[in-house]
Amino acid sequence: MTIHSDRTADELLADRGRPTACLFGDQVEYEAELGLDFHPEAYRMRRIHLDLFTGTGGVAFSVDAPLRKPALAVDQRLKFAEGLAELARRGAEVVVGEVTVADLDRLAAAHDLVVVTAGCRSLTGLFERDPARCAHSRAQRRLFMVNVHGYDMEARPEHRGGVFSFLPGTVEVFWVPFHDKDVGESRSVVLEAAPGGPADRFRGVTTADEGVDVLKGLVDDLLPHESAFLRPARATSPVAWIEGEVVPVVRRPVAVLPSGRHVLGLGDAVVLNDPLTGQGANNATRMARFFAERLTAFDGPYTATWLTDRFDEWWERGRFTSDFTNGLLAPLRDFQRDVLLAASRREGIGEQLFEGFNDPSSLFPWFFEEEAARDFLARCDVGRLDVLRYKLGVGLRVAGQKLGGWRSGQAVRRPAARTAGP
Ligand SMILES: Cc1cc2nc3c(=O)[nH]c(=O)nc-3n(C[C@H](O)[C@H](O)[C@H](O)COP(=O)(O)OP(=O)(O)OC[C@H]3O[C@@H](n4cnc5c(N)ncnc54)[C@H](O)[C@@H]3O)c2cc1C
Repeated sequence: MTIHSDRTADELLADRGRPTACLFGDQVEYEAELGLDFHPEAYRMRRIHLDLFTGTGGVAFSVDAPLRKPALAVDQRLKFAEGLAELARRGAEVVVGEVTVADLDRLAAAHDLVVVTAGCRSLTGLFERDPARCAHSRAQRRLFMVNVHGYDMEARPEHRGGVFSFLPGTVEVFWVPFHDKDVGESRSVVLEAAPGGPADRFRGVTTADEGVDVLKGLVDDLLPHESAFLRPARATSPVAWIEGEVVPVVRRPVAVLPSGRHVLGLGDAVVLNDPLTGQGANNATRMARFFAERLTAFDGPYTATWLTDRFDEWWERGRFTSDFTNGLLAPLRDFQRDVLLAASRREGIGEQLFEGFNDPSSLFPWFFEEEAARDFLARCDVGRLDVLRYKLGVGLRVAGQKLGGWRSGQAVRRPAARTAGP
């Protein structure tokens, strides 16, 4: 086996910060089975605390529940550098240099199969867009990510697990326990802003420190619950930040080269989702696992038709990852809010919801179809009256927060949110 990388292990380590790439349960276990858990000391995420914010800075309700299996986010600079060294140790030939289409043609002539896993920034024209499987043709969110440390854990102990802060229609923020190359335990903060809305503030950011300052201002304005936690935080390094956007796309998995030979694409090269649900690296791992099993069980030849058929087989389950992500990119629907509300009262429902990050297919149809959601709640013994009672509780709580803020004269600034809070 030969692996081509555009960078050496040292260059990968010295590179800019890479995306959070938090892996959930089964994918963490799979890497460990392959002997690739190089950081047993890395902090694992075992719970998620999700806050649904109102448009006035309060929290309408929270879902706090365990993950069935721990999640793990290790800095990809470490992971990729160590992965290259490990492949060489196990006997693979490692070739360094940027691969071009002409190189692919040469490689395809000399190998049983060439797999392109170059991500979403290189060789992008190679794999044709598959319009039938694409839900969007433009970015749905503006993204900002920065890795931070020095935060005040005592101010918000919920951050011992992952924290998700949602202000529907305006912003989603994910605070993910992260093993950073330079400082070890840290938090990777991924922010998804509705384009043009009050959280879309990072476009002009040019340094990590500037990004952290903008983030602190945004949190004070929109998510003040998190201000005390974030106030003392600093970026883990000048390069561990990202600003930009992702245009989701699904491409055809097999590309035909100028010579007529073909290559298979996997990972972001063929299925690129918005990071909202943290699925890109999970999906790439699931694809790698599926294809590793199918390829080793088959003697070949790996024709374009055989590879396309295998991808279609993978897509039967893989499509749920895209459906999950596109479903959450859409405005939250009333029945989904009801399920979240029920989950705020019943940890078991929260646990089932969070299992969706590990296995998106487990959320279908009950979190995305109204009738199925009502049946699901009924099976959990949550009736319409219970939901009404929960709503009343939320109404009283929000009213209390407003009154408390007014009485104590707190400066709860009212953002021009694009849609009303829950
Ligand atoms: C802000 C943000 C947060 C994210 N958070 C998560 C998360 O929490 N969980 C999750 O699952 N996903 C997350 N993702 C998505 C995830 O990072 C990607 O989906 C995942 O890294 C894709 O893996 P890949 O192997 O397909 O491509 P990549 O990780 O992009 O790897 C491609 C590799 O190929 C190399 N390469 C590129 N071109 C060439 C070439 N021509 N020749 C040789 N080598 C080449 C690159 O240097 C790189 O090492 C996030 C993304 C963003 C933007």
